[in-house]
Amino acid sequence: MLLGILKESAPGETRVALLPESLKPLIAQGISVIVQSGAGICAGASDKAYVDAGATVTADRARLLGGADVLPVVNAPELAEQNHLKAGCVVIGFLRPLDAPQALAEAMARPATLFSMELVPRISRAQTMDALSSMATVAGYKAVILAADRLPRLFPMLMTAAGTIPPARVFVIGAGVAGLQAIATARRLGAVVEAYDVRAAAGEQVRSLGAKFLDVDLGGISTEGGGGYAAELTEEALDRGRDLIARTAAHSDVVITTAQVPGRPAPRLIRPGAVESMRPGSVLLDLAAPAGGNCELTKPGIEQNIGGVTLLAPLNLPAQVPVHASQLYARNILNFLALIVKKGELSLDLSDEILAGACVAHNGAPVNPRVAKLLAPTPLSD
Ligand code: NAD
Repeated sequence: MLLGILKESAPGETRVALLPESLKPLIAQGISVIVQSGAGICAGASDKAYVDAGATVTADRARLLGGADVLPVVNAPELAEQNHLKAGCVVIGFLRPLDAPQALAEAMARPATLFSMELVPRISRAQTMDALSSMATVAGYKAVILAADRLPRLFPMLMTAAGTIPPARVFVIGAGVAGLQAIATARRLGAVVEAYDVRAAAGEQVRSLGAKFLDVDLGGISTEGGGGYAAELTEEALDRGRDLIARTAAHSDVVITTAQVPGRPAPRLIRPGAVESMRPGSVLLDLAAPAGGNCELTKPGIEQNIGGVTLLAPLNLPAQVPVHASQLYARNILNFLALIVKKGELSLDLSDEILAGACVAHNGAPVNPRVAKLLAPTPLSD
């Protein structure tokens, strides 16, 4: 069996799917590993390190695509090169099957078996494969570091002979995986932190990190969706959150927003008026930008200055921490591979709950019902 590791081709992507240190258990099973030259360089892994770990390095990307039986990736290979894939190969990665299923069409037609790391079910057995949580952890940390760098103030309280400097006030919206990591990082830097989430369960976790949890009376509605995620709220319930957010943002130096509802555009929680009420020099970092953003003024991927407020909307923060983002991702991928590779051979049991949940397409047809629906031809109207 041949496993291929590509140099990621998406603009700005610096991560790699597997690092040299990941290869030992694969090579021990008799799997041959072929790596595209330069694949790991941004993540601190040289071609030599892959060779030392037992892999072969090639500059011939088309040969790698055409030869690999298993292709762990960070992002899906571009549509134009998917017809190089070996028929029957298995591709695993952040394939964005619900955002851009058409971008997988050629791979499906080869046919390749596609597994999406976004669709791995959030059950305890799959925790070690939870790449969304791994990347959210990295993004939450980096969001605070970026905001601190852009803030024209210090984070910690300082008592000096020249006077006392008060601590920065940080407001985190959405206390899931990324939000909790942002809270922990901001606290470590000495900021005073407040946080808001619609899930009441998040309150205890926020308080355990030394931050203040802001409660909103949402009239007793259910805010929990499945799997620990939030449910999509009504406009009326969202409005109650928006009022609290606007009031809190006005006295915050940094606002980091991470609120998301799986499979839906990010909830719009910050109105232009709330940004205008923020003090000049303050920083608003919208981590939900890839899903459209939590702020109505967000332009994904674009930095703006709005009346002196810096509005940042990064699209791929984990790629700004490539070494550890790759390390965590590679461990998630290795754990996933253990489900589909037994004694060096591919063994796909699609009745396994994790594989069934993560499988996008198999034998030329979509497996995931939501992907199938997105790809179904729309009936002609008369
Ligand atoms: P996410 O990225 O989908 O959302 C981020 C946060 O935004 C969530 O905490 C959500 O409640 C919040 N949010 C959504 N709408 C909001 C709104 N209108 N206002 C304010 N906040 C809003 O979620 P995530 O961070 O990936 O995970 C959320 C939770 O899922 C975690 O905190 C954890 O409890 C659970 N989880 C479970 C597993 C598992 O294996 N069982 C794994 C990871 C996470």
